[in-house]
Amino acid sequence: AVADRLAIALQQSLLYEQVQAANQQLQELALLDGLTQIPNRRYFDDYLQQEWLRTCRETTSLSLILCDVDFFKAYNDAHGHQQGDTALKAIAQLLSNVVQRPGDVVARYGGEEFGIVLPRTTSVGAARLATSILDAFAQAAMAHPASPQQQITLSMGICCRSAHNDLEPTELLTYADRALYRAKEQGRNQFCIYPEKGL
Ligand code: GH3
Ligand code: MG
Ligand code: MG
Repeated sequence: AVADRLAIALQQSLLYEQVQAANQQLQELALLDGLTQIPNRRYFDDYLQQEWLRTCRETTSLSLILCDVDFFKAYNDAHGHQQGDTALKAIAQLLSNVVQRPGDVVARYGGEEFGIVLPRTTSVGAARLATSILDAFAQAAMAHPASPQQQITLSMGICCRSAHNDLEPTELLTYADRALYRAKEQGRNQFCIYPEKGL
């Protein structure tokens, strides 16, 4: 009888471990974007909130970069949706390669848009990284014949939370989006910072 009980207990603990592992796997899947295999919007939102709270506690800076692929509809129209998907994967990979500091997170924000959370980073640091991103895309020279640049480019909007302002996560997103809009208007393949210089 004792041997039977031991066998059952052992089996139960094995099952428990399997369920734990499956749960962990599910949790990871729920936070990954299915196409690009980088963190998804849900992860991005949670991470931004968490790092924003830390930034408030530690009175450091936190920067946010919103990236949007230029003329991507034209890319799909020219090459088909499937090749568009392949390009999005390559774009996600390239972004993740450039953004490498521990704590920095690149996520697929939606469609052909990516969000980057940069804890303990000022807008000067974020601008430096945005420059590296522009350079990396120029170097990668992924063909996009329907774009005036003939290659895939990004536009970016930057917003920073610092001890000088108390912007909340939703405000950071709104203002980064405004800066992104300005980068588009000014000709794409560039970044803008909110607020504008001199404000
Ligand atoms: P802009 O320079 O102003 O950003 O122009 P755009 O064409 O990139 O912008 P628009 O918002 O008009 O189009 C976005 C395109 O991105 C349209 C949509 O088909 C494409 N897109 C969004 N998500 C996906 C996706 O998962 N796969 C593919 N292949 N295309 C996608
Ligand atoms: Mg877009
Ligand atoms: Mg776009």
